[in-house]
Amino acid sequence: MTDVRKLYIFLCGYEIIRKSACTRGLGDNFILAVPICAYLLDTAQGLVMFDTGLDSARLADDARARALFKNDKFPAPPIVLPEHELLTQLAAIGVAPDDVSQVILSHTHGDHVGYLRHFRRARVVIQRVEHAAAFSDEGRGRYFFSDIASPDIDWHLIDGDCEIMPGLDAILTGGHRPGHQSLVVQLPESGTKVLTADVADLRENFVSEILGSAVDDVAALASIRRLNAIVASTGAELVPLHDPDFVHNARLAPLFYA
Ligand SMILES: [Zn+2]
Repeated sequence: MTDVRKLYIFLCGYEIIRKSACTRGLGDNFILAVPICAYLLDTAQGLVMFDTGLDSARLADDARARALFKNDKFPAPPIVLPEHELLTQLAAIGVAPDDVSQVILSHTHGDHVGYLRHFRRARVVIQRVEHAAAFSDEGRGRYFFSDIASPDIDWHLIDGDCEIMPGLDAILTGGHRPGHQSLVVQLPESGTKVLTADVADLRENFVSEILGSAVDDVAALASIRRLNAIVASTGAELVPLHDPDFVHNARLAPLFYA
């Protein structure tokens, strides 16, 4: 029994990242363009977004974009072209932001919360510890805090694993961030998909259990293993959010998985 009817994967741009940032020193000279994805679930209980991409307005001014995004990990700012715009892609399948009843956030990094403020009628589901970290003094100093700062956001804080509805489970997968979460989605025909979000960037991280970017390595490795165990026990498919090979071979919106 599942209330989920369709899964749409949106390609919302690219981040230019050193591979060593994804796999801890393995591939120091290699630069990857990793996709930024967001997801829409069409369910019997309404439309549900999982993450909301990176706000392209942050990239409009070159000098400002370089100041924000260029560092040891990212040799150049992200790329968000008009065809990557989330709201445009939603409109193309007939969805307005006000039609979305829930937004589930994997975590509060800027490439996941960019367009959150547009989903004004949605309940926003986040792990309590992630929300607390995002609203801490440290969190408030981050450039993307303004993406989540609106007092009008209808936060719904959850603690650990949580069934959102039949066929849709949030799984606490801390490590990359204190309260990072992933989704396990049961589709009527396509089987079970594990939307990893940023537990790790690449499929390679899961295959070889290699850590990527994390605030807590022990938790991050446990999260990689937890998702691998779910795949092993259910036959689910991993859907890594930032893996170029996976995303470039996936069925992207306006196509969908049913
Ligand atoms: Zn992240």
